[in-house]
Amino acid sequence: MKVKKIMVIGAGQMGTGIAQVCAQAGYDVLLYDIDEANLDKGINKIEKNLARQVEKQRINENEKKDVFTKIRRSATLYDASGVDIVIEAVVEKMNVKREIFAQLDEITPDHTILASNTSSMPITEIAAATDRPEKVIGMHFMNPVPVMKLVEIIRGLATSDEVYKKIEEVTRAIGKVPVEVNDFPGFVSNRILMPMINEAIYTLYEGVATKEAIDDVMKLGMNHPMGPIQLADFIGLDTCLSVMEILHEGFGDDKYRPCPLLRKYVKAGWVGKKAGRGFYTYD
Ligand code: NAD
Repeated sequence: MKVKKIMVIGAGQMGTGIAQVCAQAGYDVLLYDIDEANLDKGINKIEKNLARQVEKQRINENEKKDVFTKIRRSATLYDASGVDIVIEAVVEKMNVKREIFAQLDEITPDHTILASNTSSMPITEIAAATDRPEKVIGMHFMNPVPVMKLVEIIRGLATSDEVYKKIEEVTRAIGKVPVEVNDFPGFVSNRILMPMINEAIYTLYEGVATKEAIDDVMKLGMNHPMGPIQLADFIGLDTCLSVMEILHEGFGDDKYRPCPLLRKYVKAGWVGKKAGRGFYTYD
């Protein structure tokens, strides 16, 4: 199968980045979101990102236009009937993802590969909502997608070698580096990263230091490019919380319990940079 058309479901932080890099690699891209305002925002964000690339002379005006015309807005999931790969990047909720995968299984032709950008949810459980678990796989991009090289490729219990190889090939074609991992809670990246972020929030919660001090210790002392509290804001505190809940439940180990302060911020709607306010405030 030659991959030509890709549909991205969810035009939030991740979906817009995924749509952009796929279009820049020459694929025809459809971008769908259940919320039309978010789809507008997503399309605007892609245009701004491309304009910035023109300013930095990484691409020229014509290339920007070419990439932009490769991305089409989609108003319905039924557009998936004509694509080779679907990459889902909606909210981190199992019931929402399973519902979408069940619908995609009905809508898409037999050859279509269904990929999820989930940060932590079991691919095997998402795949079980379909009658094609061998064609379901995890493609875990990093944030911000246009900048970060890694894509963790997660094999569900039933994912076929053929599908794995195809996704590995597409990942390289969009200029990313695939790393193969198996389907366990948090995969590799979030199993290591999120407990560190959660511990940083506990450190703040217990009054050990200010958020700025915690971030400075990790930046200046451990050479991290960004402190963990700021990184949590960039990822989205709602996403951080749901990953911690999945680790907690998946391993049944209290060392993964989410910090109450993280819960409080999510309840307040202060979910980080995308909301204009998390532990820090943003314009
Ligand atoms: P986001 O909140 O920015 O965007 C989610 C989008 O999904 C929203 O625009 C929302 O309207 C849309 N949506 C919700 N329900 C939908 C439905 N039923 N159909 C279509 N669209 C729907 O979230 P995000 O940060 O882009 O995260 C998306 C996914 O990517 C999550 O699974 C998350 O775990 C994963 N992820 C996030 C990061 C990160 O750093 N934020 C990194 C890697 C993976």
